[in-house]
Amino acid sequence: MSREINSCIICDNAAFQPLYYPLRSPGRIVRCDHCGFIFVQSVENNRSIIDELSARQVEDRLRCSRDLDDLADCWEETELTAKLAEAPALQANAVDALERIARYCPPPGRLLDFGCGWGFFLDAAKARGWTPYGLEPLPGHALYSRAKAGAEVLTDILRDGTYQDDFFDVITSFQVFEHLPDPAGDLSRLQKALKPGGVLLIEVPNIDTWSVSLLGKRHRHFVADHLNFFSPSTLDLIFRKYDLEVVEIYSPTRKMSVRHFVSTWGGRTMPQGVINGMTNLLQGTPIWQKQFGLNLGDIVAIIGRKPL
Ligand SMILES: [Zn+2]
Repeated sequence: MSREINSCIICDNAAFQPLYYPLRSPGRIVRCDHCGFIFVQSVENNRSIIDELSARQVEDRLRCSRDLDDLADCWEETELTAKLAEAPALQANAVDALERIARYCPPPGRLLDFGCGWGFFLDAAKARGWTPYGLEPLPGHALYSRAKAGAEVLTDILRDGTYQDDFFDVITSFQVFEHLPDPAGDLSRLQKALKPGGVLLIEVPNIDTWSVSLLGKRHRHFVADHLNFFSPSTLDLIFRKYDLEVVEIYSPTRKMSVRHFVSTWGGRTMPQGVINGMTNLLQGTPIWQKQFGLNLGDIVAIIGRKPL
């Protein structure tokens, strides 16, 4: 994958301020002088997981499979167990987004989840009356989405002509746009694939939040495969640029189990001894599976509508 951005993808301005070069980032992070968009200007090493090769090297057999036995041939299988343990919280997060979408565009209709992962969101969407479609470059994730959610899932990245124009009632994308080498191109492709009056929801990490001010380049947003760092204001600008009427911008509350919080979030912020102690204390008790909501303002979602 290559990326060299010489003019801002949101406002076309060509003057950028260097911000910092975090240890795990694939290149220097800059901020557009004019609109404030923050991004990796040029990728200096290939750590990004979403590139064309990851989609192309998939065997044809796996690319279309709905057979769960084929998962054993996919490298991602080992990640599924942890994901399944967190399924109730993922369902709750999906329902929250689906209820918001239904205010602007109620089911039934065609719903595309761009970067659908393991398909937990598509599963919840189908249960609420949507016809589920997905696009996902990772073969095991795509296979599982087809098998469990019964969705039409392409194992691929988004290309010109992947979908016909004016096809979907709703398009969603959760924690995907921060990874994309060409987020403006992909937003434009999704806008075309929406029906007039259709709704697009995009959720990404929020760069404009107190914890980034506090932690700077040590913040968890700055990882190897994050290239774009949106804020409520730059999301608003890019939606308007691609002819989407902004109807809502919000900070989602993330539901998670205590187990997930300790094992994932704890690992980033606490010493290993503390995590081991908490795990020994709580594992096997009802608290371990207990679900709670967390809203640190470090995630932002935007909902927009394609004009009629
Ligand atoms: Zn700009």
